[in-house]
Amino acid sequence: MAEKFSGKKFSGKTVYSGITMGKVLILRKDPQIRRVKIADPEAEKERVYGAVDRAKQQLAALYEKAVKEVGESSAAIFEVHQMMLEDDDYLDAICHMIQTEMINAEYAVSVTGDNFAGMFAGMEDEYMQARAADVRDISVRLVRNLSGQEEVDFSAMEPSVIVADDLSPSETVQMDKKRILAFVTVHGSTNSHTAILARMMNIPALIGVPMDLSEIRTGMTAIVDGAAGEVIFEPTEFQCSEAERKIKGEQEKLRLLQELKGKRNETRDGRTIQIYANIGSVSDVGYVLENDAGGIGLFRSEFLYLGRDDFPSEEEQFQAYKQVVQTMGQKKVIIRTLDIGADKQADYFDLGKEENPALGYRAIRICLKQPEIFRTQIRALLRAAAYGNLSVMYPMVISVEEVKQIYAFVEEVEQELKQAQIPYRIPEQGIMIETPAAVMISDELAELVDFFSIGTNDLTQYTLAIDRQNQKLEDFYDPHHKAILRMIRMVVENAHKCGKWAGICGELGADLELTREFLDLGVDELSVAPPMVLKVREKVRGI
Ligand code: PEP
Ligand code: MG
Repeated sequence: MAEKFSGKKFSGKTVYSGITMGKVLILRKDPQIRRVKIADPEAEKERVYGAVDRAKQQLAALYEKAVKEVGESSAAIFEVHQMMLEDDDYLDAICHMIQTEMINAEYAVSVTGDNFAGMFAGMEDEYMQARAADVRDISVRLVRNLSGQEEVDFSAMEPSVIVADDLSPSETVQMDKKRILAFVTVHGSTNSHTAILARMMNIPALIGVPMDLSEIRTGMTAIVDGAAGEVIFEPTEFQCSEAERKIKGEQEKLRLLQELKGKRNETRDGRTIQIYANIGSVSDVGYVLENDAGGIGLFRSEFLYLGRDDFPSEEEQFQAYKQVVQTMGQKKVIIRTLDIGADKQADYFDLGKEENPALGYRAIRICLKQPEIFRTQIRALLRAAAYGNLSVMYPMVISVEEVKQIYAFVEEVEQELKQAQIPYRIPEQGIMIETPAAVMISDELAELVDFFSIGTNDLTQYTLAIDRQNQKLEDFYDPHHKAILRMIRMVVENAHKCGKWAGICGELGADLELTREFLDLGVDELSVAPPMVLKVREKVRGI
């Protein structure tokens, strides 16, 4: 295999430049389950028992780890799964199916899992209904074990180049960023949240790479060159030395950028702009400080909700927000309320399948319809605001009525906190401008809110009617489209007329080709991936 692959090069679309070299780790999706006739049912049953034993060991290890990291109550789910694996009805049903239909273990496990999950989901009792997701989880684990595709323990892996068919934000968010050298995927779009995470991590990332995953092995060496849009598997000696030369060049460029730390974001003719950073987790604050950002312009709080089995509690959120504002000291921290839905999915929200998820039940719509979820977050935010320079912003707002509903809700929460004598502060409150509707009524919205932050990723998707997730439409997704730039102008003008400020927190904010135009339009703030802060500063200072 290595022989055949030596020096094999593939091209893809660059999500983030930079160059790296390291070992490959392949992440495979859940295996396709096919119904296969078998001759020896006893051997199939033995395979099932083996997979069950392995699953018990995995769950015991997960339990131990979770107890240490998130506490006993959150870890209990792994104990529940172990107990469910002892359930005779479930195992008997699998074995019965293998015996009577003479079919393979994977198929029997999968169908039995679906049947049991359906049965639980149809029960009256809410607790039993919730077990449906657990049975599905267990079945997936068993099928993975049967097909030899065990889950990767992200916390234990060595620094690797992640190669996958595609990655979802909930998968990406679980990875330990220090252990990822690069992402290379067959599918995906440069505007997806997985791409945004790659930019935040400052690692080379390529998508749309036409590689055959069955030919690539974990442990192979790969060079990922984001700037060239290329990945090379099992590089030759010459390719390695070329890569090393480029890596040194990149390091030198980075070193030069460091000299801009502590300098003002000021053009030669004296105009200034705030350059803030976007983050997705508490641990990203380190990158913000390292890159000398003036504040945090977008904390995507929904990432706290991804890659887990249940809602984060008020206390957990409060601690996370408080830690961020305290670490940032006087600097502004803008926390966006939950923007779940579309590509950011967490099973426990039970959002159901939608025809058009990007136009669906997401973000502020969920918060206004399920106030119990919103209340927990607003309480945590108001409490954390007492500890620093925290601002809150609301995503996907399309009307004045929504803003009024949000304010009424915040007031209710304020009364609760006041009565309970819990320390809090009402923070500065702004909205994201992500829809053409919000742009068109930005004059009215500006009167109500403290600031605007333009989410150009969604604004581009909704204005051009182009799904930002759809790889086929990449060539049509044009954030430089005149319509978008005119919208930005309109939003900034309407904000300024009311004495409010307006920034950009979508990926366009880091587009160096537009920095001059943003300054000309009077944009007050650009919030960009932390590794882009000094690059934008360099650009501003050269204007
Ligand atoms: C945006 O839409 O531009 C934005 C910043 O939000 P997100 O990318 O998380 O949807
Ligand atoms: Mg958005």
